[in-house]
Amino acid sequence: EVAVLRLGHRPGRDNRMTTHVGLTARALGADRVVLAGDATQSRATIEDITDRFGGPFAVEQTDEPKRVVREFPGRVVHLTMYGLPVQEVAGELRDAHANEPLLVVVGAEKVSFDVYEAADWNVGVTNQPHSEVAGLAVLLDRLFEGRELDRSWEGADRHVVPMATGKKVVPADSEE
Ligand code: SAM
Repeated sequence: EVAVLRLGHRPGRDNRMTTHVGLTARALGADRVVLAGDATQSRATIEDITDRFGGPFAVEQTDEPKRVVREFPGRVVHLTMYGLPVQEVAGELRDAHANEPLLVVVGAEKVSFDVYEAADWNVGVTNQPHSEVAGLAVLLDRLFEGRELDRSWEGADRHVVPMATGKKVVPADSEE
């Protein structure tokens, strides 16, 4: 299992980023996202996309993110620009993931130092400041080595037919 914990959601200003953390987690192979704080709107959007485009993917909320980290039954990866290069630790993460669940933690604003200490790995996708969405995408792709790009979806009511140009969406039970 791969779970993603999104820390520090500020209602209103973070709605879009928190939604994108969830959608990216879902699209790129994680099994669930846990949203800290009052992220009800983001949760609704992620669940709506999962209903339409398929799963399985779960969205949860917590008021106790530290507890989620502390009690996680597996290993914890915290994404931070101050961490060790993802390309150096990816092999260890893959080995760990073969045997136990992984929790990938991303922040919003400043992340408290407890999280750095609680993490089994603090991992940087470069040591440049950028985005939790971008960091998560690269981490998941390195973890799954691209296999997440070929996954199939259950329970969708529609899917996209890939095209060089144009947009085609068909009902999920059609042959196309
Ligand atoms: N300045 C904040 C701090 O010092 O904790 C981080 C703010 S950043 C906009 C939000 C989140 O993006 C971070 O908590 C981290 O999870 C992620 N992030 C930003 N740059 C990253 C990088 N180079 N590698 C991995 N994650 C990164």
